[in-house]
Amino acid sequence: MSAPILENTATPADLLGRAGLRRTRAALTVLDVLLAEPVCARTHAEFEKALMQRGVPVNRVTLYRLLERLVATEVLERHSDDADRAWRFGLRSLQPDMPLPRFECDACHRHFNLPEASEPTKAAADQILSALSNLGHMGQRIDLSIHGTCSGCIEPPSRR
Ligand SMILES: [Zn+2]
Repeated sequence: MSAPILENTATPADLLGRAGLRRTRAALTVLDVLLAEPVCARTHAEFEKALMQRGVPVNRVTLYRLLERLVATEVLERHSDDADRAWRFGLRSLQPDMPLPRFECDACHRHFNLPEASEPTKAAADQILSALSNLGHMGQRIDLSIHGTCSGCIEPPSRR
Protein backbone atom coordinates (compact mmCIF):
# COMPACT_ATOMS: atom_id res chain seq x y z
CA MET A 1 0.00 0.00 0.00
CA SER A 2 1.44 3.34 -0.97
CA ALA A 3 1.11 6.37 1.24
CA PRO A 4 -0.99 9.26 0.02
CA ILE A 5 1.27 11.14 -2.30
CA LEU A 6 -0.55 14.42 -2.30
CA GLU A 7 -1.64 16.41 0.70
CA ASN A 8 -3.40 19.71 0.56
CA THR A 9 -0.23 21.54 1.42
CA ALA A 10 1.96 19.81 -1.15
CA THR A 11 4.00 22.15 -3.29
CA PRO A 12 5.42 21.34 -6.73
CA ALA A 13 8.88 21.10 -5.15
CA ASP A 14 7.60 18.62 -2.51
CA LEU A 15 5.98 16.43 -5.13
CA LEU A 16 9.10 16.32 -7.29
CA GLY A 17 11.33 15.77 -4.29
CA ARG A 18 9.24 12.83 -3.09
CA ALA A 19 9.22 11.33 -6.57
CA GLY A 20 12.99 11.73 -6.77
CA LEU A 21 12.76 13.97 -9.82
CA ARG A 22 14.82 16.99 -10.67
CA ARG A 23 13.15 20.27 -9.90
CA THR A 24 13.40 21.74 -13.35
CA ARG A 25 11.54 24.89 -14.20
CA ALA A 26 9.31 23.01 -16.64
CA ALA A 27 8.43 20.30 -14.10
CA LEU A 28 7.70 22.84 -11.38
CA THR A 29 5.50 24.81 -13.74
CA VAL A 30 3.55 21.74 -14.92
CA LEU A 31 2.70 20.92 -11.29
CA ASP A 32 1.97 24.54 -10.56
CA VAL A 33 -0.58 24.57 -13.38
CA LEU A 34 -2.26 21.44 -11.98
CA LEU A 35 -2.22 22.50 -8.35
CA ALA A 36 -3.85 25.79 -9.33
CA GLU A 37 -6.86 23.86 -10.61
CA PRO A 38 -6.52 20.28 -9.31
CA VAL A 39 -9.88 19.04 -10.57
CA CYS A 40 -8.87 19.47 -14.19
CA ALA A 41 -6.83 16.99 -16.19
CA ARG A 42 -5.06 18.45 -19.19
CA THR A 43 -3.71 17.37 -22.54
CA HIS A 44 -0.17 17.90 -23.84
CA ALA A 45 -1.38 20.81 -25.94
CA GLU A 46 -3.06 22.45 -22.96
CA PHE A 47 0.09 22.12 -20.87
CA GLU A 48 2.16 23.52 -23.70
CA LYS A 49 -0.09 26.56 -23.84
CA ALA A 50 -0.23 27.00 -20.05
CA LEU A 51 3.56 26.81 -19.78
CA MET A 52 3.95 29.34 -22.56
CA GLN A 53 1.57 31.68 -20.76
CA ARG A 54 3.70 31.37 -17.65
CA GLY A 55 6.80 32.29 -19.60
CA VAL A 56 8.25 28.77 -19.61
CA PRO A 57 8.21 27.61 -23.23
CA VAL A 58 9.05 23.90 -23.47
CA ASN A 59 9.45 21.97 -26.68
CA ARG A 60 6.93 19.25 -27.35
CA VAL A 61 9.28 16.30 -26.98
CA THR A 62 10.62 17.55 -23.67
CA LEU A 63 7.08 18.05 -22.43
CA TYR A 64 6.03 14.54 -23.53
CA ARG A 65 8.98 13.02 -21.69
CA LEU A 66 8.37 15.10 -18.62
CA LEU A 67 4.70 14.09 -18.42
CA GLU A 68 5.56 10.41 -18.96
CA ARG A 69 8.15 10.59 -16.20
CA LEU A 70 5.62 12.18 -13.84
CA VAL A 71 3.22 9.31 -14.59
CA ALA A 72 5.94 6.69 -14.13
CA THR A 73 6.79 8.13 -10.72
CA GLU A 74 3.10 8.25 -9.77
CA VAL A 75 2.89 12.00 -9.37
CA LEU A 76 0.38 12.20 -12.20
CA GLU A 77 -2.10 9.78 -13.64
CA ARG A 78 -2.96 9.54 -17.27
CA HIS A 79 -6.13 8.52 -18.99
CA SER A 80 -7.18 8.50 -22.60
CA ASP A 81 -9.74 10.88 -23.93
CA ASP A 82 -11.72 8.93 -26.52
CA ALA A 83 -13.28 12.01 -28.04
CA ASP A 84 -10.19 13.92 -29.07
CA ARG A 85 -7.88 10.90 -28.99
CA ALA A 86 -5.49 12.56 -26.61
CA TRP A 87 -4.03 11.64 -23.27
CA ARG A 88 -5.04 13.73 -20.33
CA PHE A 89 -2.82 14.14 -17.31
CA GLY A 90 -4.02 14.95 -13.83
CA LEU A 91 -2.66 14.80 -10.32
CA ARG A 92 -2.96 11.41 -8.74
CA SER A 93 -5.88 11.23 -6.40
CA LEU A 94 -5.43 12.28 -2.80
CA GLN A 95 -5.71 8.70 -1.65
CA PRO A 96 -4.44 6.42 -4.39
CA ASP A 97 -6.08 3.35 -2.89
CA MET A 98 -9.49 4.91 -3.06
CA PRO A 99 -11.22 4.92 -6.41
CA LEU A 100 -12.06 8.43 -7.49
CA PRO A 101 -14.94 8.86 -9.90
CA ARG A 102 -14.12 10.92 -12.93
CA PHE A 103 -16.56 12.95 -14.92
CA GLU A 104 -16.08 13.77 -18.59
CA CYS A 105 -18.08 16.43 -20.38
CA ASP A 106 -19.04 15.14 -23.82
CA ALA A 107 -19.40 18.68 -25.11
CA CYS A 108 -16.07 20.29 -24.17
CA HIS A 109 -14.19 17.06 -23.24
CA ARG A 110 -12.87 18.44 -20.03
CA HIS A 111 -12.34 15.92 -17.24
CA PHE A 112 -13.21 16.57 -13.64
CA ASN A 113 -12.24 14.51 -10.63
CA LEU A 114 -14.99 14.23 -8.04
CA PRO A 115 -13.36 13.97 -4.63
CA GLU A 116 -16.75 14.78 -3.05
CA ALA A 117 -18.05 11.44 -4.30
CA SER A 118 -15.13 9.33 -3.11
CA GLU A 119 -16.90 7.99 0.00
CA PRO A 120 -19.98 6.57 -1.77
CA THR A 121 -17.69 5.36 -4.54
CA LYS A 122 -15.57 3.49 -2.05
CA ALA A 123 -18.67 1.85 -0.58
CA ALA A 124 -19.79 0.78 -4.06
CA ALA A 125 -16.29 -0.41 -4.91
CA ASP A 126 -16.14 -2.53 -1.75
CA GLN A 127 -19.40 -4.22 -2.72
CA ILE A 128 -18.19 -4.89 -6.24
CA LEU A 129 -14.90 -6.32 -4.98
CA SER A 130 -16.63 -8.54 -2.46
CA ALA A 131 -19.07 -9.78 -5.13
CA LEU A 132 -16.06 -10.61 -7.31
CA SER A 133 -14.25 -12.39 -4.53
CA ASN A 134 -17.38 -14.46 -3.80
CA LEU A 135 -17.06 -15.69 -7.37
CA GLY A 136 -13.39 -16.48 -6.80
CA HIS A 137 -12.09 -13.53 -8.81
CA MET A 138 -9.63 -11.00 -7.54
CA GLY A 139 -10.41 -7.41 -8.46
CA GLN A 140 -7.53 -5.03 -8.14
CA ARG A 141 -8.46 -1.69 -9.53
CA ILE A 142 -11.74 0.04 -10.25
CA ASP A 143 -11.99 2.85 -12.72
CA LEU A 144 -15.22 4.75 -12.66
CA SER A 145 -16.02 7.33 -15.28
CA ILE A 146 -19.21 9.22 -15.81
CA HIS A 147 -20.12 10.97 -19.05
CA GLY A 148 -22.42 13.93 -19.43
CA THR A 149 -22.50 17.69 -19.80
CA CYS A 150 -20.55 19.96 -17.47
CA SER A 151 -21.97 23.01 -15.73
CA GLY A 152 -20.16 25.27 -18.17
CA CYS A 153 -21.77 23.60 -21.19
CA ILE A 154 -25.33 23.22 -19.93
CA GLU A 155 -27.41 25.94 -21.51
CA PRO A 156 -29.07 28.21 -18.97
CA PRO A 157 -32.85 27.77 -18.87
CA SER A 158 -34.53 30.23 -21.20
CA ARG A 159 -36.65 32.88 -19.59
CA ARG A 160 -39.47 32.99 -22.03
ZN1 LIG B 1 -18.33 20.99 -20.86
